[in-house]
Amino acid sequence: MSEKKQNPWEMALSQFKKAADVINLSDDLRAVLSVPQREIHVALPVKMDNGKVKVFTGYRVQHNNARGPYKGGIRYHPNVSIEEVKALSMWMTWKTAVLDLPLGGAKGGIICDPKNLSIGENERLTRRYAYAISKFIGPYEDVPAPDVYTTPQHMAWIMDVYSALAGHYEPGVITGKPIESGGSLGRSNSTSRGVAITVAEAAKRMNIKLKDASVAIQGFGNVGSNAAIIMAQEYGMKIVAVSDSKGGIYKKEGLNVGSVLKEKEKSGTVTTLNGVEKISNEEVLTLDVDVLVPAALEEVITEKNASKIKAKIISEGANGPTTPEADEILFKKGSLVIPDILANSGGVTVSYFEWVQDLQRLWWSEEEVNRMLTERMTKSFNDVYDAMKKYKIDMRTAALTLAVKRVSDAVTARGIWP
Ligand code: NAD
Repeated sequence: MSEKKQNPWEMALSQFKKAADVINLSDDLRAVLSVPQREIHVALPVKMDNGKVKVFTGYRVQHNNARGPYKGGIRYHPNVSIEEVKALSMWMTWKTAVLDLPLGGAKGGIICDPKNLSIGENERLTRRYAYAISKFIGPYEDVPAPDVYTTPQHMAWIMDVYSALAGHYEPGVITGKPIESGGSLGRSNSTSRGVAITVAEAAKRMNIKLKDASVAIQGFGNVGSNAAIIMAQEYGMKIVAVSDSKGGIYKKEGLNVGSVLKEKEKSGTVTTLNGVEKISNEEVLTLDVDVLVPAALEEVITEKNASKIKAKIISEGANGPTTPEADEILFKKGSLVIPDILANSGGVTVSYFEWVQDLQRLWWSEEEVNRMLTERMTKSFNDVYDAMKKYKIDMRTAALTLAVKRVSDAVTARGIWP
């Protein structure tokens, strides 16, 4: 029998404790940061297409706002639970702090099966949820964003409900909106751009030549495919392998990313491309490459395959792709794992830029957004890298430690009141 798995909230708490131990955080600050500041549970009655009313359950958990308004996505999934939303809200507090964004951490979710909702049902559910949490969100209070199975369209509906209740247009209440509703240019591939920036910085620190460095990418969806394009076209790297849920493809001399994209569009998978070697998803992870980007699922790098991984740099496009056991093995081997809260934080960073633009009613060019993203992620990477060297810890613990320190300093400066 395997050991009982920790639920996500227990996992978030144990990670927090590990980071708190590194900086000898006081018991008082541990107590403050180990609980979300507010948990909102809402019942959402929705008229379904068949004429019946169905009541859904929704959550918004606001973990901490010591550094700025709460920030975090809204997830639609049958497996949403309060434990998961709490954990994700705490991770958002650390993610915004690692990037030094003037924002806190929150997360929302609705227990539902979005694949079985019509567009009309989806819209009525979303508007009812926006109404139910409207008193607790706002441009200076809590700024939600998309997450699993929520899209720019959902964000536009939420902004519309909030604006209707406020009596004026308020785009700054939510990010990830369509461009025509106050969204930001550069948002759609910002997560992948962030992944590429962290890889470029890691390569500099490790004296790996970026031009022609070999890359394997697991997952060819939003994050994986855009990372492939940016790394190949802007950094001159050689993408030798990619995969999707059907399997992987490999070409030692480097794949033509444009052809892979066309094939994925045409047949729905990369595996039907001609002139390449077919490999399994497992093999993608253990290829002899300089860089590995897991950009699909969680817990794919485990104690079973970690010792076989040859990449010197692993940049976590996906959330939670590496288990704690695998982390230890990779750390001992000397592989650099750029943790998800840093590597895939390009999305939340451009969300922050969107919010700033909305507040100013002044929109920036895509070049400007990308330039500022590069500047901020480069600085964050180097802050975390230096903390890793200073405390002689792995990069994940270093990122968490830096974040916990920034948040606890903000709590201390503001003080406990009354
Ligand atoms: P997506 O749905 O667009 O793409 C997922 C890809 O993974 C698809 O190509 C799919 O075929 C592939 N896949 C599914 N099962 C697989 C398997 N068993 N083996 C290999 N590949 C498999 O999703 P996405 O938006 O690209 O997100 C990918 C990961 O990145 C997720 O963990 C997500 O939480 C994380 N993430 C995404 C963003 C973002 O801005 N999209 C931001 C932060 C983190």
